[in-house]
Amino acid sequence: MANSTSAARTTATDLDAIIIGAGLSGMYQLHCLRDRLGLKATVLEAAGGVGGTWYWNRYPGARCDSESHSYCFQFSDDLLNEWEWSERYPEQPEILRYMNFVADKLDLKRDIRFNTRVTGATYDEAANRWTVTTEAGDKVSAKFLITAVGCLSTANVPKIPGLETFQGKWYHTGLWPHEGVDFRGKRVAQIGTGSTGIQAAPVIAKTAGHLTVFQRTANYSVPAHNAPLSPERKKELKARIGETRRTMRSTPNGHPFTIEDRSVFDVSDEERRQIFEKQWEKGGLQFRAAFNDITTSKKANDTAAEFLKDKIRQIVKDPKTAQILADIDHPYAAKRPPIDSFYFETFNQPHVTLVDVRSDPIEAITPKGIRLKSGAEHEVDIIVFATGFDAMTGSLVKLNIKGRGGLPLAKAWEAGPRNYLGLQVAGFPNMFTITGPGSPSVLCNMPVPIEQHAEWIADCIDHMRRNGIERIEAKPESMDRWVAHVNEAANATLLPEAHHSWYLGANVPGKPRVFMPYAGGMARYKDICDEVAAKGYEGFELQRAPAMAK
Ligand code: NAP
Repeated sequence: MANSTSAARTTATDLDAIIIGAGLSGMYQLHCLRDRLGLKATVLEAAGGVGGTWYWNRYPGARCDSESHSYCFQFSDDLLNEWEWSERYPEQPEILRYMNFVADKLDLKRDIRFNTRVTGATYDEAANRWTVTTEAGDKVSAKFLITAVGCLSTANVPKIPGLETFQGKWYHTGLWPHEGVDFRGKRVAQIGTGSTGIQAAPVIAKTAGHLTVFQRTANYSVPAHNAPLSPERKKELKARIGETRRTMRSTPNGHPFTIEDRSVFDVSDEERRQIFEKQWEKGGLQFRAAFNDITTSKKANDTAAEFLKDKIRQIVKDPKTAQILADIDHPYAAKRPPIDSFYFETFNQPHVTLVDVRSDPIEAITPKGIRLKSGAEHEVDIIVFATGFDAMTGSLVKLNIKGRGGLPLAKAWEAGPRNYLGLQVAGFPNMFTITGPGSPSVLCNMPVPIEQHAEWIADCIDHMRRNGIERIEAKPESMDRWVAHVNEAANATLLPEAHHSWYLGANVPGKPRVFMPYAGGMARYKDICDEVAAKGYEGFELQRAPAMAK
């Protein structure tokens, strides 16, 4: 799979673009720049293969919550027709196979340097080039720098005192060992009940001797009703490729379903209950699409929240456990809403225990296990941290990027991320961030914003080439306007009401609390980007060579 030598074919000095990361974004960006524009581009990737998040997140139960026929590139009918998904929601190994299939079909690997971790990137104003340094000490330079590092790729292992003394084994779900973990007969602790923890717990419980789930914030979840795709369904999905693509590109969140044009109180209580019940039976993320005001009106949201809490109380047999699981403190879908395969049912098994660490927080990890504030100690052999990521900014800041005058990105974003369209930061010319903060990214089915960003960036670079423009840079006032618009879009929804969500950076101690993704919807975002381009890249400073020399 890995190919660490081929990128050496392109010499370090004649590169047009360096792309960091070989997930969906980096792969497609390479295709756009190399195969459509004929540029010399190389991808630097820390992992031993393509895949990005799907290369690292190999934890038990890892599966995408976008339906398989929509979690893939839409730009090529050939790719869509040739690839066949096996299940409604694709499992991690199948997604990784898909990504390798695409990389091979498009012959991408020859321009990807695997096992190459980037440790720095510095802009040289006089040369108008970026120089990227790798862990091995190599230096690669190019005119354009494009980060394709994903939104959820820097694992967040909470700094709990005593972890280094633990005599068992511990793992973070986002850095899962490739050989897997043998839970058979083991006493396992799982910390975290976000999308990851909710997927992992039922699978870990299948083999563990005992599973103890440590829950700090209770969470909603809707069944995925995952199942193999029947031959008829596969045929139907292939026949409807064009229609699916149009739907995905026209909806706010890039999924292949539309939001019903009715509000919660347009219908009677009984009718609403039946609608929710039907959505629950359908399963998946479209639960929230049953009404058009669930994500914007607290009163409307309360009806969905109550329905889902009732479901937890019906499924979980032990009333005390059910009460802890259903004691949810935020509106439904204000945090990323998980979907599951028998998560709440898992707590009906005699060898699965739930511990409420909201009322009795984790105080320390001891050599034998986990100790709570009350002094209660849970002895375990394995700890699984399903504790999420330093999301959206963590992986960018870690790259040690220095812009004009040596300005570190970490300094520019000291008070929280600021950029224009989620794509460019003032002071960092010719650098683009794919699905950076300020982009709709994580509020969408990811391939949709990824394709849009990569195409917009390629079109922008093409425009520069054709017009003799050497440098593009977001204007500070454009960033101010975009940050204000991102806040305005978030405040029109219930999203900021989940005060400890990673959308706000609240899961990482000390991180500035800024609502990061753009909540105004993918279709609207695309229109804004298209208009900016149509107006000659309005809001950006464009410089031709003679102007730069002044
Ligand atoms: P997450 O949503 O940030 O959840 C982390 C969990 O760990 C939360 O329950 C959090 O509790 C808990 N936690 C963190 N530090 C803790 C501590 N010191 N003590 C106790 N509990 C602690 O992370 P995630 O579940 O990995 O999901 C992140 C995102 O990845 C998702 O929202 C989604 O966008 C994506 N994802 C997608 C899929 C999919 O496509 N199916 C699957 C997995 C993940 P608090 O809530 O109290 O902070």
